[in-house]
Amino acid sequence: MKVPLTIGDYLSRGAAIYGQRTAVFDEPGAPGALGTLTYRELESRARGMARALDAMGVDHGERVAIVSPNAAKFAISYFGVSAYGRILVPVNYRLNADEIGYIIDHSGTTVLLVDPESEDSLRGISPKHKIVLDGVADAELFAPAPDGAEPAEWAADEDATASINYTSGTTARPKGVQLTHRNCWLNAATFGWHTTVTDRDVFLHTLPMFHCNGWGMPYAVTGLGVPQVVVRKIDGEEILRRIEAHGVTLLCGAPAVVAAILTAAADRRTAGRDVPGAGTVRIVVAGAPPPSKTIERVETELGWEFIQIYGLTETAPLLTINRARSEWDGLAPADRARMQSRAGAPAVGVEIRTDDEGEVLARSNHVFAGYWEQPEESARALADGWFHTGDGGHVDAENYLVISDRKKDVIITGGENVSSIEVEDCLYQHPAVAEAAVIGVPDEKWGETVKALVVLRTPDGATGAELIEHCRSRLAHFKCPTSVELRDVLPRTATGKLQKFKLREPYWTGRERKVN
Ligand code: AMP
Repeated sequence: MKVPLTIGDYLSRGAAIYGQRTAVFDEPGAPGALGTLTYRELESRARGMARALDAMGVDHGERVAIVSPNAAKFAISYFGVSAYGRILVPVNYRLNADEIGYIIDHSGTTVLLVDPESEDSLRGISPKHKIVLDGVADAELFAPAPDGAEPAEWAADEDATASINYTSGTTARPKGVQLTHRNCWLNAATFGWHTTVTDRDVFLHTLPMFHCNGWGMPYAVTGLGVPQVVVRKIDGEEILRRIEAHGVTLLCGAPAVVAAILTAAADRRTAGRDVPGAGTVRIVVAGAPPPSKTIERVETELGWEFIQIYGLTETAPLLTINRARSEWDGLAPADRARMQSRAGAPAVGVEIRTDDEGEVLARSNHVFAGYWEQPEESARALADGWFHTGDGGHVDAENYLVISDRKKDVIITGGENVSSIEVEDCLYQHPAVAEAAVIGVPDEKWGETVKALVVLRTPDGATGAELIEHCRSRLAHFKCPTSVELRDVLPRTATGKLQKFKLREPYWTGRERKVN
């Protein structure tokens, strides 16, 4: 028997087995927030959403975009949109109106859901339907459906696209990663298993829900009836408070989130206050290689379990996992942290190898179907039956992957990708700029930060501060250079190519890895 793997399976099970349990604690006081929902209510609201989309005449396969920080309505939309045959387009709400407008156009979105805080800035974007998530305009969309009231039937297809997640990469504009139901289903099951999610867990949504569908963890926890605590804004002390208040046992985030938690915990200790979660919390970290000192501090200062994973939006994302194994129990924390600073061993069903140039290649059922309407980029990424990650590294003697470099021209700051080309394009729009190269340099807080090396047309054409301001008026702020160095010349190869690795070198000397 072959039954299609669709992400609706996760919600159906959560609701059938854990109907009376709290599914979501929404952010208290957030505009349009839904308070506390049981699994039964989560299911009836997702079904209600699908019925409302039917009534609006939105066909199966149409794109429904959501621009919102973490919220219960986002959790409902994962299912209300995708589980009934439409395609969810989760958008980074920190992007500016031009960047979001591009994604809405490119994906052919017909329904746009907008958090009230983004309403003003997105006034100029008008797809066929636009609904503000303020509790009034969206009241019908998120109303529970009565028992037995079913949406229009969708011929479930595991190879149908469940979501298109736009990600910045090697092109000036972001690319739309098409994740199928099968990709999401298998990623969620594998991820949930490797991180041993059980129905005794309580999950905190510290990872942005838009980022690769929260790495697919929201599907996994829903299937096991795990209570989910929404947090709208990252703040170390607030995270500790929620962990304490709800008995959270599991959270995911980039190394910058871990750093914020460690700082808040240190402040608590100084003030003589308890730090919650010792022996009960596990934190899953990816997005950049966390420093081994950070890993050690998670164990020694918080008493939490640290789990590293590695993957990309294109791989749904789970490729490798590094979780302390019994063989390392006798090691000193610093030595165990060193073992855990590797990206990890391939998850079950994932094959990893590196090519002659050290680029990491992957094969798995989690690997995406291709970029939305970009066949050439898709063919390049999936050439020879392997997914080309653009990351550099090696597989060590224990078959653990170590990520040590980046082959692609991408900067990762605070867990979000920035395309160097996009920032360079923006700098070139300034009349004073003759040449620009944008690189990532190490940063204590964000892992990496964006630096621009610029040659001016005339020596006093612009100051660094003016160039930063120029970018901030055109790009999402997290993409903008935090420093500009004015140079007389940028070194090029004989063929006129900028050698980014050479430009990066001085900022990374003395470091084991060229990514942070
Ligand atoms: P995204 O598609 O935005 O999730 O970004 C994926 C990229 O994040 C990868 O290609 C890597 O460059 C980086 N990344 C993710 N996890 C790790 C990790 N554990 N170690 C090093 N880099 C990572």
